[in-house]
Amino acid sequence: HTSNLSLYRVLMMGSPGVGKTALARQFMTSEYKGTYTESNTPDIIEPERNVNVLLDDQESTLHFLDEEQHPDFEAEELPLDAYVVVFSVSDTTSYNHAVKTIRTLRDLHRTNKAIILVGNKIDLARQRRVARHDASRVAKKYDCRYIETSAALNHHVDELLVGILSQIREQIGPS
Ligand code: GDP
Repeated sequence: HTSNLSLYRVLMMGSPGVGKTALARQFMTSEYKGTYTESNTPDIIEPERNVNVLLDDQESTLHFLDEEQHPDFEAEELPLDAYVVVFSVSDTTSYNHAVKTIRTLRDLHRTNKAIILVGNKIDLARQRRVARHDASRVAKKYDCRYIETSAALNHHVDELLVGILSQIREQIGPS
C-alpha cells in the first residue's frame, strides 16, 4: 500500500531565528510521521527529512529541504513542489522579509507552486507585532495559505503539515 506513495519536496525559507529548525524538529516527531522504507522513496537518501502525511485517506511523503543547504533554489534547479515561508509574529523584520520572499517567488520567478506563509511563535502573545489579518491578507493576495503556529508548544504543527500537503495537491490538480 506504500508502493505508490507520492513524494513532494518542500523548501523551508525565512529569516534566521524564526523557528525553522524548531518546526522541522516537531514535524519529525509528528503523529503523522510514518515509516520510511527504501522502496517507496528510492531517490531520497536522508530519511530523517521525510514525514508521511495522511490526508483524505491518501498518504504522501513530504521531504523537507532548507535554504542554507540549497541556496540555488532561484535557479529552479531543484524539483520543488512547495515553499514554506516562515516568520515570527514577534518580529516585524522577519515578516517583511517573508512578504518580500513571497513577492519574489510569484512576481519575479513566476512560480505557481504551493506557497505556505507561516507565522510562528504565537505563544509569545504579548510580544506579537504582526496582526493575523495583515499576514492573512498578504497571503491571500499572493495565493498562499496562511497558518499560525507555535513550534515551542507544538501548536498547529500537524495542521501545518496537512496544510502543506493539501496546498500541493490543490496546485497539482486531481490526479
Ligand atoms: P531558525 O534559525 O529559523 O532555524 O530558528 P530556530 O528553530 O533555531 O529557533 C530560534 C529560536 O527561537 C530558538 O531559541 C527557539 O527555541 C526559539 N523558537 C522557535 N520556535 C519558537 C516558538 O514557537 N515560540 C517561542 N517562544 N520560541 C521559539
